[in-house]
Amino acid sequence: MSESTVKETKTGEFVAEVDTSCARAPVGLLAELTHRCPLQCPYCSNPVDLERANTELSTEDWKRVMREAGQLGILQIHLSGGEPTARRDLEDIVEEAARSGLYTNLITAGVLLKRERLEKLRDLGLDHVQLSIQDVDPENADRIAAYKGGMDKKNDVARWVKELDMPLTINAPLHRQNIDNLPAIIDYSVKVGAGRLEVAHIQYYAWALKNRAALMPTREAFMKTAEIVNEAKERLKGILVIDFVVPDYYAKYPKPCMGGWGRGIINVTPSGKVLPCHAAESLPGLEFDNVRDRALADIWLNGQAFEKYRGTDWMKEPCRSCPRKEIDFGGCRCQAFALTGDAANTDPACSLSPLHEEWAAKATEESHTTDIPEFIYRRMGAAATAATE
Ligand code: SF4
Ligand code: SF4
Repeated sequence: MSESTVKETKTGEFVAEVDTSCARAPVGLLAELTHRCPLQCPYCSNPVDLERANTELSTEDWKRVMREAGQLGILQIHLSGGEPTARRDLEDIVEEAARSGLYTNLITAGVLLKRERLEKLRDLGLDHVQLSIQDVDPENADRIAAYKGGMDKKNDVARWVKELDMPLTINAPLHRQNIDNLPAIIDYSVKVGAGRLEVAHIQYYAWALKNRAALMPTREAFMKTAEIVNEAKERLKGILVIDFVVPDYYAKYPKPCMGGWGRGIINVTPSGKVLPCHAAESLPGLEFDNVRDRALADIWLNGQAFEKYRGTDWMKEPCRSCPRKEIDFGGCRCQAFALTGDAANTDPACSLSPLHEEWAAKATEESHTTDIPEFIYRRMGAAATAATE
């Protein structure tokens, strides 16, 4: 990619002078406003080393990120966490995002929200709410999240979203400890008036990798969920759109992680680090710029971490000569590094990887274990403690 220049305006904002022959603005920005969260899901996609509250960006920093995102041409902002409603300045951030022309999506576990606050957020420009559920069985949901009474609060939030006439997506991560309730999760989504349901089999990075043996479903159970989803998609046409994320372990080819490295998504951590993927900090040899020091557009266009695996030039065989290399971009760099020790290797999720058989066999073995390990819950230091034990 050729260099593009970034200029500072009179008001202190940074604007990219984009060379349109090479630059593509990201479609979405995932803003991890905080890693604080009252829940402790064992599959949380946050890094195992959570960022502390005292390192978080200020309100003014986040507002500047919103303006720079709008100027860069980003379309959607996903306000995420941890739990984004733990930030008391969420209103300011939403208002600035809306003013900057961004479509705003709040990704929340819902348990901290009040109706008045949701209404205020809507009035300030919040466009969409994505509510995560751990299960529809309240007891099991409490156990998975290590949080009591979550389901009642989520029911309230779902109802308020509809009363406030906002679009609602239910996000349901699926694993062996809630997989049998998939039909009830679909029914629940219809009942609360969601327009979209994301049934996402767990992706095994970060916390989920630590808990893989406790979460991995059998291939048979996975196949059953595919059947259930296909049937429901047909039956609920015009009522509920269902997105189905399959587990890498049972796929023939990997997913294009993040839609391809540095192609469509930009991730900003609570402390302002800008990542091509939320797990990228697990990779060695990458330099992560911070929005405190460098303009978002400049980081996106020229940052070392974004350039490192952008496109296909970095690939080794078998990806390098594979006809699918522009489709899946060799899968996930973080998974390739975690399982092979080299991020430039083919993701072992791919059946063409020399490590695939061994890797899939391990998953199959874990999925059949009857001695299911206890969860390592997502909390500060929990992974390190578990590793020591
Ligand atoms: S996955 Fe669970 S623990 Fe992680 S941020 Fe979401 S609700 Fe919180
Ligand atoms: S070899 Fe690489 S590019 Fe080809 S399908 Fe597998 S991961 Fe994708």
